[in-house]
Amino acid sequence: MSADVVIRGVRAVFEDGVRPLDICIEGPRISSIHAAGQAPGGAREIGGHGLTALPGLIDMHSHHREPGFTHKEDIVTIGAQCAAGGVTVSVGMPNVSPPPTTAAILDEMLALYRSRSLVDYNVNPSPVQLAELPKMAERGVLAFKIFMVVDTGRSYPHMPGIGLHEHGKLYTMFKAVKATELPLMVHPHDQSLMDAIEHEFWARGERDFRAYARAYATDDGVIWDTAVAVLLRLQEATDVRLHLLHTQTWRVVEMLRTAKAAGRAVSAEVNPWCFWLGNDWANIERLGSYALSYYVAPHHAAAVYEGFRQGVVDIMATDHAPHLREEKEPGWADGWTADTGTPSEQFYLSLLLTDVAAGKLTLESGVEATTRAPAKLFGLYPRKGTIAVGSDADIILVDTERRHVITDADVLSRCGWTPYAGREVRGVPVYTLLRGELIYTEGKVTAREGFGRQATPLRP
Ligand SMILES: [Zn+2]
Repeated sequence: MSADVVIRGVRAVFEDGVRPLDICIEGPRISSIHAAGQAPGGAREIGGHGLTALPGLIDMHSHHREPGFTHKEDIVTIGAQCAAGGVTVSVGMPNVSPPPTTAAILDEMLALYRSRSLVDYNVNPSPVQLAELPKMAERGVLAFKIFMVVDTGRSYPHMPGIGLHEHGKLYTMFKAVKATELPLMVHPHDQSLMDAIEHEFWARGERDFRAYARAYATDDGVIWDTAVAVLLRLQEATDVRLHLLHTQTWRVVEMLRTAKAAGRAVSAEVNPWCFWLGNDWANIERLGSYALSYYVAPHHAAAVYEGFRQGVVDIMATDHAPHLREEKEPGWADGWTADTGTPSEQFYLSLLLTDVAAGKLTLESGVEATTRAPAKLFGLYPRKGTIAVGSDADIILVDTERRHVITDADVLSRCGWTPYAGREVRGVPVYTLLRGELIYTEGKVTAREGFGRQATPLRP
């Protein structure tokens, strides 16, 4: 029987290396894999010669902005960036309006995605209403997400109601999440320390983008380290599956290493801005708030990179956080009034492949951290995150040699700009397939609204 789609002569990336193969797809799944040149004919043939096949990227942390902030982004514009950037599963964060804190609100949000998403999706709801957690878990979510941040001087992106930083409340919530057996994502932060640090800056009259960048990095990252120390101790007390967001200090990497060596249920992500944006003060001088996310001093970024190469930092997720220019512009004078965060969904694969081309990272470990590792941590493996017979045919074909200079004109996000403009990357997606359908071909997004499906965890 002939396959629906045959990808011929592609270099496919596996955990243990890269091999030339033909990949056959029937319906939504990979039906067979053959030595190059050995596959039978298919109804549709894709010439993979000179291209490299990777599993579709799984982005566990992306700010899709809908509902509530669709002037920045919406489910369709994020989907187009995913298709163009090789992302086949993108998971939204809860700082939308209304935030998903109940099963009823979550249902409405999932219905929006069902009708309009271009790519496979899920939502990480906020676990602040403990009685709602079992019901939300039944909706097939992959994880819960909590911010320890409560914004000062602005009500976004860390709006009141989904921030939680008191230890007693965290302890109770950890136990409630543990009862669902789902992972808990936490944005680590120490609000009390941050209040003290901010007041020192403000008392000196320092409020510009530089002050904002330095405040979060004060005392070699003390707000991050103290928060993570508390979170890890609460994890030990409750045995919740803790997933730390925004890894960005060397001490956090060492704490993670120790916790993992002890066999604890702990994992962590790093974001593109930690390696390619906020790690260089020159970017912050040049771009101001447009480069913030956070400033990560080079010695921290190097330690996190080393931890990433070793798998101590398990995954890369984008923390894609688009804002309009007019929401960033006030940050030159007052960093605290600019919305914080940077967009990256469309370009992080190319940034990663550029590091692979430069020999900083193996292709296998880059692919692991963006596909298989998140699939395993969040219950999607082996349906997603791998090129294997029976898995969803979520496959991206990349040209690892092709060079491209990123420009604002490339940007498919509603925000209309990227902090990576002007950068030459080496390695770009050429085709993106989601469940056997081409959703991106050579610069053109062909994904359909409503094609995306909720990527739910596999039950044992
Ligand atoms: Zn985020």
